[in-house]
Amino acid sequence: MQFKELSEIFEELEKVSSQTEMIQILADIIKKADPDEIDKICYYTLGEIAASYKKITLGIAEKIVQQSIALAVNVDIDVIKNITNNIGDLGEVAFETIKNSSNHFKDYFDAENGLTIKEVDNGLVKIATSNGSGSAEMKKKTLAAMLSIVSPIERKYLVRLVTRTMEFGVGEATVLNALATAFLGSKKEKPKLERAHNVCSDIGLIARVLDKEGIQGIMKIKITLHIPMRPMLAQRVHEFSEIKQKIDSTIIAAEEKYDGERIEAHKDGQEVTLFSRRLTDVTSQYPDIVENVKKYIKSDQAILDGEAVAYNFKDHEFKSFQKLMQRRRKYDVKEYMKDIPVRYMVFDILYRDGRSLMKKSYPERRKNLEEIIENNKLIKAAGRRLTDNLDGIDEYFQECLDKNLEGVVCKSCSDKSYYQAGARKYYWIKWKKDYASELRDTLDLVVIGAYSGRGRRRRTYGSLLCTAYNPEYDVFQTVCKLGTGFSDEELEKLPPKFKQHLRDNKPARAEVLKSVEPTYYFNPNIVVEVLGAELTKSPIHTCAQDEAGKGISLRFPRFIRWRPEKSAEEATTTTEILEMYQKQ
Ligand code: AMP
Repeated sequence: MQFKELSEIFEELEKVSSQTEMIQILADIIKKADPDEIDKICYYTLGEIAASYKKITLGIAEKIVQQSIALAVNVDIDVIKNITNNIGDLGEVAFETIKNSSNHFKDYFDAENGLTIKEVDNGLVKIATSNGSGSAEMKKKTLAAMLSIVSPIERKYLVRLVTRTMEFGVGEATVLNALATAFLGSKKEKPKLERAHNVCSDIGLIARVLDKEGIQGIMKIKITLHIPMRPMLAQRVHEFSEIKQKIDSTIIAAEEKYDGERIEAHKDGQEVTLFSRRLTDVTSQYPDIVENVKKYIKSDQAILDGEAVAYNFKDHEFKSFQKLMQRRRKYDVKEYMKDIPVRYMVFDILYRDGRSLMKKSYPERRKNLEEIIENNKLIKAAGRRLTDNLDGIDEYFQECLDKNLEGVVCKSCSDKSYYQAGARKYYWIKWKKDYASELRDTLDLVVIGAYSGRGRRRRTYGSLLCTAYNPEYDVFQTVCKLGTGFSDEELEKLPPKFKQHLRDNKPARAEVLKSVEPTYYFNPNIVVEVLGAELTKSPIHTCAQDEAGKGISLRFPRFIRWRPEKSAEEATTTTEILEMYQKQ
């Protein structure tokens, strides 16, 4: 398939505002594509160049992209810089620039009549793999060669792919819907794909298997070393006593609940890969955890689930998530590693020496974990207490608070307590200090729009339109406008923070009523933690609407923090909000 055909589809996707239409358009192009193009179509639609966990970087700065465009269209670099200053988006710059040269760079990338999807992939691989001296020149000319033989619309999307600014508001759930429609006849079949996607986050691989082996192949997809798996999630309860009612076992394991970063560690001999909760490769962020997993995990192969927690070894105290985030940087990682040491607190094991442990109960998995982990101050199996009563849990919970922890996660010890990737069920129940102090739990909401600011806020946004995720329909439904709780500095940073996510129209997956239509729309990407006073019925919001058309809204919402580690699909769901509303 020519990249031109795909680019035209991308242009269509940018305009549609119905989710059903979006799924159909994607399903149609997937059906038409060759087997070895399907995975690329999935990645490109998501704005990626390969499976996101692979961490393939093109290593091509904006400046180089500008130079490539200038070379491709044979104009002076200053012309491109000026257009960039006016338009901003480099994809549009590439589109607007009139082509007046033929391909002068055949030595760098040879293609004749436009580019096929495979040729685009080859070009991107060539850019990504050019390293060492002369690589900047090689990357620049390869991109220039590609840009010089394609039409303006292809240039636009090629540049957006390279600069990682491709956004249609399409999430992985939408791509799964499209795959189910294309190969299994209806998006109703999506749950069959979800199981596989939960254990293997490579959506391109799922697409390839589905195309080649059908649903039988999908059923065989298993947990694999170095491919991240969606983490199991914890449910919440409103009343402390509900923990005992909801959990399906008499004996409950109350585990320490850490406030750090969820880390899935894959150990394969001397090779260790670390993945974040968003399933991105964060190995380079935690060289200390890599070393400790190599040293203190006694099996040859293992997949562990745990939390990286900042720790002060002098005061013997756990530190907050905010402290840990100060370590999140590209450079000087080793220096910050000394200033902010972490402990890797391991609470699960999913794979051991060639065997998946996901279908084993929690007690069996814990036994496996204890057999292979050499506990010490740097890496340790999560602290816990086994009990059969609420007093026992409460006592342990208080001990956890004394250790500066967030609370406890209560885990079922029943025979059915398997590891359920991606699921939030009552096998794990969290109980945090904010619940205990009668404060409402916070909501993690997805920002899909903003209103212009006035007066003191005229240079920024007045408020943000926040939504909850409805996984059943794969849509985002509005819950509140958020305008308080921001510091002046935070307020000032809002427009640049959302710039990349701006779009001209409502995202296809957002459900917004006319009365709350924002001034600006964003693709659903950024998650914000919000504290509110109460949940009320509201005719202007679409979250969990009842038969009379009334939704649920959050009153007096207050900004707490951004949640960069959460994807939009991991935000609080509309069902959770409905349950919270009913229990108030
Ligand atoms: P929350 O982010 O408040 O929904 O709480 C769930 C998160 O708590 C998980 O995703 C983990 O990152 C974290 N967590 C901390 N300690 C544990 C534990 N012992 N078991 C499971 N999850 C834990």
